[in-house]
Amino acid sequence: MGRFIPLSIPNFEGNEEKYVGQAVKEGWVSTGGAFVSELEEKLSEFLHVPMTAACQSGTAAIHLALLECGVEPGDHVIVPTLTFIAAVNPVRYQFGEPIFMDCDDSLCIDPQKLEQFCREECHMDDNTLICNQTGHKIKAVIVVHIFGNLADMEAIMATAERYHLTVIEDATEALGTTVTTGKYQGKFAGTIGDYGAFSFNGNKIITTGGGGAVTARDKKAVQHMKYLSTQAKDDEHFYIHHEVGYNYRMTNLQGALGVAQMEELPEFIQRKRNNYQRYQKELEDLKKAELLLFREGTDPNYWFYSLILNLKECRVSLREVIDLLQQQGIQTRAIWGLIHQQKPYQNFLAYRIEKAVWYGERVLNLPCSTNLTEEEIQIVAEALKKLLGGAA
Ligand SMILES: *Cc1c(COP(=O)(O)O)cnc(C)c1O
Repeated sequence: MGRFIPLSIPNFEGNEEKYVGQAVKEGWVSTGGAFVSELEEKLSEFLHVPMTAACQSGTAAIHLALLECGVEPGDHVIVPTLTFIAAVNPVRYQFGEPIFMDCDDSLCIDPQKLEQFCREECHMDDNTLICNQTGHKIKAVIVVHIFGNLADMEAIMATAERYHLTVIEDATEALGTTVTTGKYQGKFAGTIGDYGAFSFNGNKIITTGGGGAVTARDKKAVQHMKYLSTQAKDDEHFYIHHEVGYNYRMTNLQGALGVAQMEELPEFIQRKRNNYQRYQKELEDLKKAELLLFREGTDPNYWFYSLILNLKECRVSLREVIDLLQQQGIQTRAIWGLIHQQKPYQNFLAYRIEKAVWYGERVLNLPCSTNLTEEEIQIVAEALKKLLGGAA
């Protein structure tokens, strides 16, 4: 077989070896050490926020945000159904009850259905939104910025304000995505709502192997989440703890990788943008599929590229397309299975899920690593044209 073109792999072209080597040499491999705080400073500066707290994963970041906004057993949290399951699982860590919401054409949560659900299926009681069907409080909404796109934050924030909902942005896929027009012009994904979560897992735009970070509008909230992530230690020397804490702090080895990756982030975004534009050009005349656009009024990080297949005209199924490309050494994948249909979540409320089902059957993610070459994009494009009809 010839070459293999993976879906998404990390890129270590900078100071990664140097900084990790330094951490090892100095013996700072655990949660102490300078690289973790340096990464936090770099992130805060990049995102224009007062403080961030680095942690073990994006999942831990979301869990810390849910802890901080006080989700208690039985509380509802509104979540998208079209997402990676890690955005939803932390709701259950708190014994909260998710309510599943549909997506719009950006694949992110549908702001109109969110508003409609709050208006028609809930009522306000003592400044708290209550779900009519269960009688339980609705505490928060988790907004996922899918594939580096940005959810319609202006509409979502207006609804959240009206119904006193806390907004947690899952910006794990959208580090570097910004708003270019309107009320939030200049703001970064993850810094518009009350809380923002980031991930540095292996396939994200920057990686620390595994890792994440959390930020909040309120600096005190970030300080408290950092405290929770370090076993809620109130006295270093005598081991005094006033709360139940977590072992969620990032290690210095991860921090070393992260500092090196942050140095390259602007370059990574530039390459992802160039590669997306190359795909756009190459796939212009594709007949039975089109590349998903990013939302107008945003400057995305172009993390993942989605092709929407016109299934009616395709003579092959999505699964067959994936298999046929795999045989040619091209790795692609379908989007996630909808969360409200997964075994642990089938008994929770789901509100008018329509578009998520439609997109769930049609999205094909294309190779998108930052080290993808022009030639590789051509190979992928030619293979797609053969399968899906285009002037080859
Ligand atoms: C990657 C990801 C997460 C979780 O991040 P981890 O660092 O892997 O825990 C959460 N939500 C979404 C949408 C993701 O893509």
